[in-house]
This record gives sequence, C-alpha cells and structure tokens, in this order.
Amino acid sequence: MSSLTVTDYPWHKTSWDKFVNAKLQKHLPHALLISGMDGTGKFNFAKKIATSLLCTSPVNNTSCNKCQSCKTFQSGSNPDYMRIELLEEKQQISVDQIRQLSEFINYTRSFNAYRVILLNPVERMNMNAANSLLKSLEEPASNTIIILVTSNLSKILPTIKSRCQLLTLPTPNKNQSVQWVRQKLPKKNAEELLDMANGQPLNAIKITNEDIHDREAFAIDLLDVCTRQKTITEVAKAWEKFDHSILINWQINWLITFIKNNEVNKSPSVENRKEIDSLLSSIEICLTTDSQWVLYQQLIGQKRYIHTSVNPLLFTESLLLLWLQASRPK
Ligand SMILES: [Zn+2]
Repeated sequence: MSSLTVTDYPWHKTSWDKFVNAKLQKHLPHALLISGMDGTGKFNFAKKIATSLLCTSPVNNTSCNKCQSCKTFQSGSNPDYMRIELLEEKQQISVDQIRQLSEFINYTRSFNAYRVILLNPVERMNMNAANSLLKSLEEPASNTIIILVTSNLSKILPTIKSRCQLLTLPTPNKNQSVQWVRQKLPKKNAEELLDMANGQPLNAIKITNEDIHDREAFAIDLLDVCTRQKTITEVAKAWEKFDHSILINWQINWLITFIKNNEVNKSPSVENRKEIDSLLSSIEICLTTDSQWVLYQQLIGQKRYIHTSVNPLLFTESLLLLWLQASRPK
C-alpha cells in the first residue's frame, strides 16, 4: 500500500508545496515546529516530510516506498530515523528520551542524505526534557532535521519556538471536512461523525457504531441525573472505565449547542430526527440559560485535570455533580 498522498488531506496542499520548495532550494531548517489542530493529520504530514527526506529515490518529491530506506522505515528499523513519543501509560516525555535523541545525533552514523527525528507531542515534554532539547536545538548537527509536532503551540517554551521554523497547518473548513469524511465513509452520516469528533476529520472516521451507542447511553444517564432518576455515584460507576476526556468533550459540545440555540432563540424541540437530538433537547430543558453558561465554564475548568492522575471515578462524579447543581428537577 502506498503512503499518503497530498490529495489525502487537501487542506495541506499549500503547506506541502512550501516544504517542497524549501527542500528544492536547499533551505530546509534544522528544526521544524509543526502546529495544527488535533485530528487534522499533522502527524501524518510530519511523517510524510520525514519519509520524503529519507527516501533515496523520491517520486514527485514524495517517498517511493520501494527503496531500501523506505522499506526500513516501514519496518521501523531505518537507522537514520528516530521517533520520540509518549511511552505507554506515561503522561509526559521524559529527559531520558531526549537524551537518546542527543545520542542519536552525536553517535549514529548516517547512511542517507538526511537524518530525521520526529518528536510528538512536543507540548508533553517535562521541563527537564525541554531544557535538554534546547541544547540539541542550539547546536544543530549537519544533515539532521528535528521535526517537532504540537497541537498546543501556546504551551511550547518561547526559547524552543525561537529556535525552530514554525509551520502552522491550516484547519480544514467544515465543507472540506464533510467532503473528506464522506469520501472515506460514503454510507455514514458525515455531519454526525464530525459532530462527535469535535469537527476533526481524522477522528471522525474512527468513530464506530459502538461509539454512537455509547454517546447515546451517556446522554440517557446524564438526563437521569438532571431529572433525579439516578444518583451521580450510580452513573459515575457505570462510566468509570470510560475515557474521561471523551466524556467531558461530549458534555462541553452539548453545552455549546445549547448556548448557540439560545443565541438564535431556538427552543428545544423534541421532534428531532435522531434519538440523540431528542435526548439532548430533554437535557436542555432542565437547564436555564444562565446555568448553561456557568456549567460550560465549570466544565472547561475541569478539562485541565484530564491528563493528571486524578481518580477517574471521582472525576466523573465531580462533573455529574455540576450538572446536578445546574439543573432543575422536573
Ligand atoms: Zn524510497
């Protein structure tokens, strides 16, 4: 199977052309910081740059997928490529991982025109790791390109930013996203999938029927909390094992919809086509306009605990408690 082509992500085309130009004119930076929204393909874009640099006989400036270098890349054993990512069950990229990067730069013999290091997600480096990376950025090695990838540019140290060339990938507009998802999954409702995936096309195509079912089941439980049919402990227990970043994103997105409905004076209608819509309308009725706004801000505040080692049961309980306090029992 061939690797991705530019047409896989039409919204990347201009950025890709810029990179190709820089490469042809031999103006490539030592460090490239790629930023872009989650779920829009920025890691694949970075990988595409890496493979095109490592390939010994590129076709149209992209990797050939046939040469020795491409083959070793695909099998994860290319000696000129290093990838640094979050290790399993870890929340941060450690200084030890960045030390391996310096060793790779200093001691590895290069076989190709370029050596490439891909570090993602760069905002998850701890302070020691970031300081150690700075050293490598200050003393760039020849023919080595460090590609840093982030979805949260504001969290990157200014000292790191200033040593990289910044490449901000554009976010696909709604129309591009819908078209793209439709092309991949012609039999599914592209709008609904994108809605569930916070508008992120790459995440939208990963959504399964089970996910759709889960979201509905959670909406039912949330309605039961708001109407005092179930206790928060009962519901939190049922969702304890579930990814709580998904749970909180659903809640925040629903509130955004409610708040938008208020702005256009759209009253909740219980005659909607989809099951989820009628459930959400029933939840919406439990909240006043003011409490929706307060609840939204409270949930945004809770979001910062997602990547900490907070107890999942307590975390879900605290979210549900906010709904309980915000809602009026019917
Ligand atoms: Zn190749």
